[in-house]
Order: sequence, then C-alpha cells, then structure tokens
Amino acid sequence: MLTATLIILLSIFSLASSSQSQSQSTTDVCIIGSGIAGSSVAHFLRKYSPTISQIRIFERHPVVGGRMATVTIAGETFEAGASILHPKNYHALNFTHMLNLKVKGPSASDSSFSLGIWDGQKFLFKTIDSDSKSQLVQYFISFANSIRMLFRYGISLIKMNNFVEVTVDNFLKYYESKESRPVFSSVEEMLKWADLYNLTTQTLEEELVGLKFSPLLIQELITVITRINYGQSVRISGLAGAVSLAGSGGDLWSVEGGNWQMAAGLIDRSNVTLHLQEEISLITDVGGFYELNSTNGNSYTCQITVVATPLDELTTQFIPEIYIPERKLQHTHATFVRGVLNPAYFGLNAVSDIPELVGTIESSELPFTCISVLKEHSANDFTYKLFSRQSLTDALLDQIFSIRNETLRINWGAYPHYHAPEVFAPFILDDMHLYYVNAFENAASTMETSAVSAENMARLILSRLAGQQPSGSYGLKSSTSDSNLQHPEL
Ligand SMILES: Cc1cc2nc3c(=O)[nH]c(=O)nc-3n(C[C@H](O)[C@H](O)[C@H](O)COP(=O)(O)OP(=O)(O)OC[C@H]3O[C@@H](n4cnc5c(N)ncnc54)[C@H](O)[C@@H]3O)c2cc1C
Repeated sequence: MLTATLIILLSIFSLASSSQSQSQSTTDVCIIGSGIAGSSVAHFLRKYSPTISQIRIFERHPVVGGRMATVTIAGETFEAGASILHPKNYHALNFTHMLNLKVKGPSASDSSFSLGIWDGQKFLFKTIDSDSKSQLVQYFISFANSIRMLFRYGISLIKMNNFVEVTVDNFLKYYESKESRPVFSSVEEMLKWADLYNLTTQTLEEELVGLKFSPLLIQELITVITRINYGQSVRISGLAGAVSLAGSGGDLWSVEGGNWQMAAGLIDRSNVTLHLQEEISLITDVGGFYELNSTNGNSYTCQITVVATPLDELTTQFIPEIYIPERKLQHTHATFVRGVLNPAYFGLNAVSDIPELVGTIESSELPFTCISVLKEHSANDFTYKLFSRQSLTDALLDQIFSIRNETLRINWGAYPHYHAPEVFAPFILDDMHLYYVNAFENAASTMETSAVSAENMARLILSRLAGQQPSGSYGLKSSTSDSNLQHPEL
C-alpha cells in the first residue's frame, strides 16, 4: 500500500496519463497493473510482435511500479518494497542495462554485515563485526564468521548452497532461446518443464529434513531468511523457500535510485498509453471483446485483457465470474524509523553491540520479523527498516528505540501465503483472451519471477492470437544444454 509519503518522481519520465480519456474507445491490449509484471508484458509484446496496435496500462495509483516503491526519510530515499535482485536475475539485469539505469551494490542491511538471531530474550547467534575499513580486516572477519557458522550449523551449510544452486540452475532454463523453450499455458506446465514443480508439493521444512539438514540450521538461520524474505516460516513451499534462500546470498544488487525505474522505463519505451490513477472496477466479456470500466467512469474495449496484479484482495468484478483457487496474501508491515535502537531492549549495553541485521526465529512472542540498518548517518543517527506481521504500535516502538525522530509505516499485501502442496490459478482465466500473470506468484514472488511470467505471457498471447497450440507447437523439450542459454540478448 502506497502512502502519501511515498515519493516517486515519475514525472521525469513524462509518461502520458490520459485518465480523462474518451468514454468509449477500441484498443488491442489492456493491462491492469503497472508493476514489473504489467510493464514487462508490454515490453515483451512490443518486442515479439510488431502487429499489436495499442497497449494501455491502467494503474490505480498516481505512480507506476507497484510493489517496487521507495520511501523518503529525512531527504534519503530507500526501497520500501522489493529491494534486492539476484545476480542471475537476467531479465532485470537486461532491463537495467537497456534502460541505462545504474546497478547498485547491496546496502549494509541487505548484505547483512553483522547478523544476530534474536529469540525475544537473547541472541542465539551473532556474527562478529568491525568498524575497520581495511579490506584485510574485513576479509578475516568474514572468514572467521564463516567458520563460526560452520561450527554452529555444520556441514548442512554447504548442503544449503547446493540446494539453492540446483534450483537456480533449473530456473535458468527460462532464459533459453525461444526455439527450444515452449510457450506455457499453465503454471504447473511451466514449473514441470524446469524441474521445479516437485518443490511446490512439499514444504521447505519437509524438503530440508528429507535432505538431512541439521534441525538447528532449519530452526535458526533458514527460518530467519524465510521470515525476512516472505514473512513466513519454513512451512512455505520448497520452491518459495529455495528462492528465499537464493535471495540471501552474495552479490545481490538493486537499481540505483529505485527499482521502480525498471517499470517506468519499460512503459516509456513500449509505446504504452498509461492511465494513472485509473482503477479498473469491472471487466465484462462482451462477446469477442472485453469492456473495462474504471472508477473514473470511463469504459474501454479491449481485445486482450491482462491482469498483472494479485487478484486476491482486488474488488474488481468479472462478468461472467471467474474462478481461481482461494489464496491469502501475507501482509508485511514495513516500518521505517530514523533514530537509535535501544540496546537495553536487547539486553545489551551499547548500540554498537546490536547487529546491523537482527533476524528472528518463529515465536508467537516476537513482535517483529527483522530489523535492519538501512543507513548509519552518524554514531547516534540511523535509518532502520523493521518488518512485522502486525502493525507496530508507538508504545512498542518506544521500547525498541531510545530515540525516534521519524516513523513511517506501510502495510503491504506483500506476497502469497505459501502452502504445500501449492495450488495454482490459471494463466488463462477464460477460454478467450483474459490472462493472469500473477498466477505465477504462487511459485515464488519476486521481481524476476514476475518478469519471467510476463515474458511467457506475451508469447502465450501471441501464439493464441495466431491460433497456435501454446506448448504443443514447440514440443516439450527438456534440454539443459548451456549452449541454449541466451542471457545477454534476452
Ligand atoms: C515488503 C516487500 C519486500 C519484497 N522484497 C523483494 C525483494 O527484495 N526482491 C524481489 O525480487 N521481490 C521482492 N518482493 C516481491 C516483489 O515486490 C513482487 O513479487 C513484484 O514486485 C510483483 O510485481 P507485480 O508487477 O507482479 O505486482 P505489483 O508490483 O503489485 O503491481 C500491481 C499493480 O497493479 C495495480 N493495480 C491493482 N489493482 C488495480 C486495478 N483494479 N486497476 C488499476 N491498477 C491496479 C497496483 O496498484 C500495482 O501498482 C517484495 C515485496 C514486498 C511487499
């Protein structure tokens, strides 16, 4: 949920907003949602087909980007939602380069310089930290921390890396050339082709117990990671869990100035008519076309309609009704505080003893899932980000912080509440041209998975328009040959 305090300077892209548009018009493709999914669908449709005449994107908010958004606290801008990208997120990398955006290394919080695992009473584990700027000192500290982790969690730590690598390698199949990669008409088909489906049939915990991971590693470090990334326990699906673990590795990155610029740039380049502050409230099948009605009182006729937002909490009506499996969104409350943590809350003497990233284990008594330092402005002035499942009251924040100069809260309908076995909504919501990109979010919710789903969606739309059988015409090849990987020219 964007608050008025979210400042996103979209205007520099001078995207045309035509919310006072005509009361009736014809168009080819209408996309609901201007996040990475909607903007990527527009990008790939333009890339793969010169014949799509018009693309409209509807966005209920005054800014594009959706869950990619920034907050500004005392003049400094920070990611408020989706913050980190994996080094092998090739669509995002490609967008960033194509749009002349700058790649930024991770902030202290994201690379978790010092980590503490808090159980509500004490730190179960803490890495060592140093203020030294010397590379040699940092190298030794990092080495010492690896040894300490190995001592605590044993050989399972190495198994964890292997588990993540195998999953990431399978995911890379989605970047294979179009000639060897089928068009998928369902999420299940898409996951099975990349050998990822089985991971959605059991929980991360079941998966890791099966792989003989140490119980301590699962209860502590892995739980910390799933709580940070998905606000949920290790009972999320194995696939969402693996994606979550992949997001805790090294070389993570973001777009300097805000990840939302990927969506803005893609929309800008794709010759899209953007309707900002125009919420679609009704989608009616009028026989061969869809009529979209907005809360602004406008009506649009679309040959193809793409829903590029989670439908779970949406009030948009469909005539005739559509049926998708019930799915709950996990709400993550992001609280940004400019101030200083209270060391006494953590049973410590000095602020400097508090790790830069405080992760937590599963406990009903814990009011937050993590606290991280976004920036140290001076020894007595920090910006922090807290994630929690419930809103944090002022009274509680006054216990956690000794100084609190500015507080900003966002309640995100953040990602699906994951289950195993996972159930997937269809990509095609009727037997015509009503599509749902975010069905893929039940596999895993990230900027890159949205882009991957969007790329397949563009191909699905075009192949169905051309009257082709989506996957049959390409054949279900399962080649993993590296020679098929075509990352740079995606
Ligand atoms: C707190 C948080 C942290 C996260 N961290 C990461 C991370 O570090 N890395 C990562 O890769 N991912 C992360 N994610 C997940 C990531 O943000 C999402 O998976 C991704 O951004 C989803 O993009 P989308 O385009 O599919 O949906 P959205 O970004 O939600 O876009 C949907 C858009 O549709 C608009 N809309 C909805 N209904 C209507 C309507 N009726 N009419 C018009 N417009 C409508 C919405 O306003 C929104 O702008 C995080 C998410 C959250 C909330």
